[in-house]
Amino acid sequence: LQGYVGFANLPNQVHRKSVKKGFQFTCMVVGESGLGKSTLINTLFNTQLYPGKYNDEAPVESPKTVEIKSITADLDENGVKLRLNVVDTPGFGDFVNNEASWKPILDNIEARCDMYLEQENRVNRLKIVDNRIHACIYFIAPTGHALKQVDIEFMRRLHTRVNLIPVIAKSDTMTEEEVFAFKERILSDINFHNIQIYQAPQYEYDDAETIAENREIVSKIPFAIVGSDKEVETEGGRKVRGRAYPWGVVEVDNEDQCDFVKLRQMLIRTHMEELKEHTNNVLYENYRTEKLTAMGI
Ligand code: GDP
Ligand code: MG
Repeated sequence: LQGYVGFANLPNQVHRKSVKKGFQFTCMVVGESGLGKSTLINTLFNTQLYPGKYNDEAPVESPKTVEIKSITADLDENGVKLRLNVVDTPGFGDFVNNEASWKPILDNIEARCDMYLEQENRVNRLKIVDNRIHACIYFIAPTGHALKQVDIEFMRRLHTRVNLIPVIAKSDTMTEEEVFAFKERILSDINFHNIQIYQAPQYEYDDAETIAENREIVSKIPFAIVGSDKEVETEGGRKVRGRAYPWGVVEVDNEDQCDFVKLRQMLIRTHMEELKEHTNNVLYENYRTEKLTAMGI
């Protein structure tokens, strides 16, 4: 079914509680300019999700500083509401000296935690607004080589503060074999530098189908992404979202050609609640403890 994402099928208990007030999820995209962050956001918000309301907060043209801007879409699927916020960070990694590119982003993530903490400490805690980042999609350039210093530095600085989900940008510029080898290389670099990317837990009490589905999703990390907000025509005359090349079309929504669908499934369906729980129970909790300890409380 075209356009069907499946957040309406979240596990029943979570589901019943949340159906009324709706779900809310915030993710951030980070990576050097030109790697396809804005395109991915459009691809996520585009036809595969039910059309939502855009509210671009800032002009598209960006100066050479890291900016933080967010886009919200209110989605509705079978009467289940999802407010999806995506935070873009144009300017990251664009400086001559990128040593501190991670800093404004870390500051932003922590400021969101501070806002939450401040609300928790209020007398009336019933109307807490949660602007914390539940997942950070980090774009790796499709070089096929080792991770760059800027990648390692960013992930090293951020991994205790946010759920990191690395992706290979513009994976249509690599062959299937190159993508496969590059994934191995990225994971071994991440491992070497003791970086904790998001580890999706497997629950043995899930049914076999769910376990298999989760395993399949997790096995694709770092997801090889192709983004496109344009429709192109395949050789067979189908209109698809994709990128056209002289030798053929790469389809965004074709799981044999890239991992976009898997990334979207993980974020919006299979792991949305888990990403939020991990953010709250582990990442935020650690931040809160550090902060209060530092304040001598
Ligand atoms: P951003 O600077 O990270 O926001 O990158 P943009 O989304 O603006 O994309 C920069 C350029 O790369 C544009 O010309 C896009 O059409 C192109 N682009 C985006 N995603 C892909 C992709 O998956 N594959 C390829 N080959 N090009 C892409
Ligand atoms: Mg952009």
